[in-house]
Amino acid sequence: MSASVSWVPDPAVEWEEAFLALERALSGRRICLLTGAGCSTESGIPDYRGGGTARRARNPIQFREFLASETGRQRYWARATLGWPRFRKAEPGRAHRAAAALETAGALSGIITQNVDRLHSRAGSLRVVELHGALDEVVCLGCGAIEPREALQVRLLQANPDWSRREVSLAPDGDAELDAEMVKDFRVLGCVGCAGVLKPRVVFFGEGVPAPTVASAFELLHEAECLLVVGSSLAVFSGYRFVRRAVEQAKPVYIVNIGATRADGVASGRVSGQAGEVLGRLASAWTGNSALHF
Ligand code: NAD
Repeated sequence: MSASVSWVPDPAVEWEEAFLALERALSGRRICLLTGAGCSTESGIPDYRGGGTARRARNPIQFREFLASETGRQRYWARATLGWPRFRKAEPGRAHRAAAALETAGALSGIITQNVDRLHSRAGSLRVVELHGALDEVVCLGCGAIEPREALQVRLLQANPDWSRREVSLAPDGDAELDAEMVKDFRVLGCVGCAGVLKPRVVFFGEGVPAPTVASAFELLHEAECLLVVGSSLAVFSGYRFVRRAVEQAKPVYIVNIGATRADGVASGRVSGQAGEVLGRLASAWTGNSALHF
């Protein structure tokens, strides 16, 4: 009697094959890199739709509520005051360093990021389109004056002295987990010049991305031969539109992400893995530096 031999797939081997296929597909091609919250989870900033994110953290304020409701703004600024110190402390990680190295090596037309943490620029990337703005500045909706977020933080803590001692979990986007009851005594501040309503310089959910920003992002895609999406579920249309445009232009779309994405069905290749590890190895292949370098 002959023993039957069954073949058991080895996930590590399959992963390596998927990575090498991605590396070959990208080799020598000019890449437009589209990044999302998954690029910054390794820097300690939670994402919205990753497996480890608490359900309550997925309830960001909508633009309309921020404009219309004083209570909404109070909730936003109370949570943001607690979330900011840790958000500000986040440092660029392996994914950001590798992306900067890929740009220096001439592999990228640029980076379109949905993140608001400025970590790509802090890692040294130069051509970055911040689709949703950045949290490190606030704008007065009355007179248009800009104030550094850090300066506002000092004012907010002076007006709410006991808030510097509160400990809460960090939520995505510099937000924090906080009960409605705790928020009601929080003092919201206005613009130093005109007392107008202050808003972080980011695009809120329900708010449109400014047309010049979208145009700059399309330009980066136009200059590239393919689109590489890293660390984004692409659930938000403002990021997903670049996948649609790439498909229209017959440019291949590649994905590096832990979870499922909205573009999995149209992708020419996909690696399920850590953004830092995969981008680090890609940068290593382009630059000749060891992957440990990133
Ligand atoms: P998302 O939360 O919808 O998706 C993130 C994806 O990244 C998930 O599918 C998750 O599985 C994956 N992921 C998590 N860690 C990863 C890692 N280390 N390596 C690879 N994949 C990883 O995020 P999104 O698609 O960017 O959309 C969310 C919106 O919220 C964005 O528009 C952005 O403005 C905002 N946001 C920004 C930040 C930030 O600035 N760091 C953080 C959270 C949310």
